[in-house]
Amino acid sequence: MVRRLKASGHENLLLRSREELDLTEQSQVRRFFEAERPDVVLMAAARVGGIYANNAQPAQFIRDNLLVQDNVIDCAYRNGVTKLVFLGSSCIYPKLAPQPIKEEYLLTGPLEPTNEWYAIAKIAGIKMCQAFRREFGFKAISLMPTNLYGPGDNFDLQSSHVLPALIRRVHEAKIRAEATVTVWGTGTPRREFLHVDDLADAILHLLYAYDDEPIVNVGWGEDVTIRELAELIVSVADYEGHLIFDSSKPDGSPRKLLDTSRLAGLGWHPKISLAQGIKSTYEWFKTHSAEARL
Ligand code: GDP
Repeated sequence: MVRRLKASGHENLLLRSREELDLTEQSQVRRFFEAERPDVVLMAAARVGGIYANNAQPAQFIRDNLLVQDNVIDCAYRNGVTKLVFLGSSCIYPKLAPQPIKEEYLLTGPLEPTNEWYAIAKIAGIKMCQAFRREFGFKAISLMPTNLYGPGDNFDLQSSHVLPALIRRVHEAKIRAEATVTVWGTGTPRREFLHVDDLADAILHLLYAYDDEPIVNVGWGEDVTIRELAELIVSVADYEGHLIFDSSKPDGSPRKLLDTSRLAGLGWHPKISLAQGIKSTYEWFKTHSAEARL
């Protein structure tokens, strides 16, 4: 977001690191909004993680996300923010939703158990935005991005999502001349991936082009199996070993491809293909491994 905003000439950004401003602490959030009086809030802050972290830390995922979004949305409204963009996730939809997933499938069935704690918090955030719009006329919109990846991602093998995890595993196996790389699960689940620079562009577009209650999916429009993703990474990294699938690890949702027709109707389309995005992310990882979150 910061890269995208600066590239389009936005200089007056109010940025705070987690160390400077703990969004789970209401008093700190209140003081920040009263002192700085931001005009617009882009709400990407959250406790996020892949299938292992979500499953292993249910309390932290539901607690931190409820607190962060409660504090920010309420303080933004009370301090005159003119527009707030809340980011959710494709995991808010029912585990077995028809595919591609339309926005209206929200709350039509049970969630995927490995990430329901995070999903429930994000659903509460969406409802909070909608309720503040209805009762107070607060201009909050909610966007649901699909699985994201790109430079600056979390490459920690326990807490990351699949794409950065496999980039790291394959790269390290190549460097160490190991014969195999282990991929969690059966390799058959399907996932859709969107580059973060595309998401940042979509957020900026919708900030100006959209102001209504319904949520909007932000996705690429096509998905791949985890096996296809792993093979793509193997080919980009030019790794000569083999993939092994560890079916003792959870698969999670069988598929979560977003229907992006509402987004297309609002005039936005993604540009960075998965092959192109993996190439540039792999280059970033190789040259920034000192500062990458490992
Ligand atoms: P999800 O989309 O919420 O399920 O989150 P993930 O990105 O963590 O996982 C997506 C799929 O990739 C699941 O089926 C995982 O089992 C699979 N997967 C394969 N290898 C890995 C890995 O090394 N890390 C993670 N996080 N997932 C992996």
